[in-house]
Amino acid sequence: MFRTLRSRLILSHILPLLVVVPLIGIALIYLLEEAVLLPNLTAELKQQAALIVDLAETQPNLWTDAAAAQAFVERTGTRVTARVMLLDRTGNLRASSDAADANRVGQLLDHPDLKRVLSGETVTRQDYSRRLQADVADVLLPVMKSDEQLSGVVRLSYRLTSVYEQFTALRWLVVGVLIVGLLLGAGVGWILALNLQRPIEQLTHAVDHLAGDQSSAPLPEPQPEEFALLVRAFNSLAERLHSLEDARHQLLANMVHELGRPLGALQSGVEALRGGADEDPALRHELLIGVDAEIHRLRRLLDDLSRHYDQALGPLELNRRPIELNEWLTLVLAPWRESAERKNLQWMMTRSNEPIVIEVDPDRLAQAVGNLISNAIKYTPAGGTVSIEIESEPAAALIHMTDTGPGISPEDQAHIFEPFYRGHTARRFPQGMGLGLTIARDLVVAHGGRLEVTSTVGQGSRFTIWLPRTFSPQPSPA
Ligand code: ADP
Repeated sequence: MFRTLRSRLILSHILPLLVVVPLIGIALIYLLEEAVLLPNLTAELKQQAALIVDLAETQPNLWTDAAAAQAFVERTGTRVTARVMLLDRTGNLRASSDAADANRVGQLLDHPDLKRVLSGETVTRQDYSRRLQADVADVLLPVMKSDEQLSGVVRLSYRLTSVYEQFTALRWLVVGVLIVGLLLGAGVGWILALNLQRPIEQLTHAVDHLAGDQSSAPLPEPQPEEFALLVRAFNSLAERLHSLEDARHQLLANMVHELGRPLGALQSGVEALRGGADEDPALRHELLIGVDAEIHRLRRLLDDLSRHYDQALGPLELNRRPIELNEWLTLVLAPWRESAERKNLQWMMTRSNEPIVIEVDPDRLAQAVGNLISNAIKYTPAGGTVSIEIESEPAAALIHMTDTGPGISPEDQAHIFEPFYRGHTARRFPQGMGLGLTIARDLVVAHGGRLEVTSTVGQGSRFTIWLPRTFSPQPSPA
């Protein structure tokens, strides 16, 4: 019972009507009956009775001549809608405009207020008349002689049946209004429920889809605002799940590729040595250098992965100590300089004019710089240039690393710091897990600095590490 949103909404729309409309109807009918119609009717009857009394006062023979009295009530009875009676001063009926009263003429009127009217009071009352078998509005007015003596009484009785018939019509009108109101309320509740139900169903469907590992397009934001917020939250959750799923796929693909290639090279090297290459010292030396290089590559790969994993676990702990940036960087970059020159790249290094002493974790910063320089060397074709420039600012130290490689398109620039993302040009190059820049940025940010890129496709790229001279910890990026 009322388990669905629809039934509850319909109920909430018709319940107030069910209570309010009958209450208003009862109050309205009561007010009309007691405060307006009946008092008006009585007042009108009194007016008519007063006119008849005025007339009767001018005809004293009414109280002596029965025929004159009967003629009088019949004449006046045709003018008013009520029954007209004349009573003598002892309360006996003298004449009535209703022919059914003929047998009561001469008898004492059976009326609870007879005494009061005979003592000269005006009486009005509403009561059930057994004789007329209806509710009746009664007005009794004394007729006085000029010497203030009572000559008789005029009585006007009006059946209230026709008034009550009007109330019955009013009651039906209230019932009609109630039915129309209920239908309208139910209709509005139904439409509202449909409007609310649709986005809920869509959302449930989309959540089922997502739980079933199927991708779902972003849902349109419905009204009202609360639903829009819910759908917005769902869309961003779905987007996050998709990008995590993409990253997982990308990681697997990259790992298979990155582990497979050096393993293949190692296997070929070992097979060549087994097949007799170890007997030729020059060939053995060359093969061992190759094997060593592949083992180094695998080590770097593992380092990158474990760094990424560490970063996912929480903020980095830095072992800071002061270094002089120019000296330190020249030392750190020495092996990279060699590998750049082996690839036939021009190497340029510009130190800052003054020494820069900053407190950093040298191992972590070396990893960040190494990742950037290894990219510069990797992506710059032979004959190109890799240049490093150290710049000093009052509040910061800057390390610019510029290459004349293929450059990075603006679309790629928006994503290259995301884990496992590889740019379009980079896909032509055999190596890369798409983790180097993510790790470099995280390490720089852990130092309170930032990593920025500017690049033009076809001309080259420039990565800048910005490090504050005084350290203030910053939250690591998600
Ligand atoms: P990867 O292992 O692919 O080099 P990175 O995280 O180091 O991963 O770099 C992400 C992407 O950024 C690369 O795939 C490449 O498209 C782009 N990129 C990084 N450095 C350079 C560079 N010096 N020149 C051109 N593209 C670069």
